[in-house]
Amino acid sequence: MDEVKRDKAQELEALRRRIADLDAHSIDSLYGLEPVYEPGKGPGDLLPEEFVAVQCPYCGERLETRVDLTNDEPSYIEDCQVCCRPIEFTAERDDGGALLAVKVQRVD
Ligand SMILES: [Zn+2]
Repeated sequence: MDEVKRDKAQELEALRRRIADLDAHSIDSLYGLEPVYEPGKGPGDLLPEEFVAVQCPYCGERLETRVDLTNDEPSYIEDCQVCCRPIEFTAERDDGGALLAVKVQRVD
């Protein structure tokens, strides 16, 4: 029994060390690649994309859209899945880049 416990403890310790190594390494490389992230805030906190439900400004249908949070451009145009008219989506994000809200408006 004790033997097994010790093995488990060692396994855990090794795993913990590996995670710590990985973190330090990935944070370094991420800071190098993505200077937009604020120090102290891990990029792991942010999703690269989020699904949001909005209402079409033309036909009023409820739509689900995927917001690309890796895109620096806050607004983009996508056709309504129901009436096929172009909708301008504007993503509002906080300082850390997390999605706060998505606004939709007509493009005409
Ligand atoms: Zn529509």
